[in-house]
Amino acid sequence: MVEILLTKMNPKSCVLNERAKVTAVQITGYDVAAALSFGQLSKPAYYFARAKYCDDIQAAKKLEEHLIEFIHCEIVVNNWSLGEGTIMGITELLIEEGVYGVRCKKCKGNGNIYIKHDQLSSVEDCTRCSGSGFGAFSQRKRARTANIPLTTWNRHWERNFQYLLGYIEELNSQLIRHMSKQFEFLN
Ligand SMILES: [Zn+2]
Repeated sequence: MVEILLTKMNPKSCVLNERAKVTAVQITGYDVAAALSFGQLSKPAYYFARAKYCDDIQAAKKLEEHLIEFIHCEIVVNNWSLGEGTIMGITELLIEEGVYGVRCKKCKGNGNIYIKHDQLSSVEDCTRCSGSGFGAFSQRKRARTANIPLTTWNRHWERNFQYLLGYIEELNSQLIRHMSKQFEFLN
């Protein structure tokens, strides 16, 4: 339930999207913001949530600092060689793709497309994003933003980047677990 609500929330603002179709109880952005401050949510997951769902610029800045630190640790662990400019570029990609999300080009972020048949028309899930409304940057755009040659990106960085995106996914899972606990009464 909470997961559905969160995914239907309009990223960058604390207003629940009407498409969430909440019948019995309405959770507002204020409830979400309040729920974030209870319990044991980690600092990075808190910043992630505030940046993604509450349009909190300060939190986005804190998250960015945390990600830069995280990448520095990964550099040591994995023996990557990356300049500061590249670290900034990869951080920017993580925030744009992992936190705010990129709109699917085919359905323009709607998740569904209008199909016209001979006589009738129908609305169907977008096949490109499976109805999520989210897309991804091209490898070319990722390489350019990270300031890494495309061939090097394709050979090494595409995989590493997916790994780093997995960390953001983990923050999201932490948030969902946390919110499920805070809104237990809805389940
Ligand atoms: Zn789509």
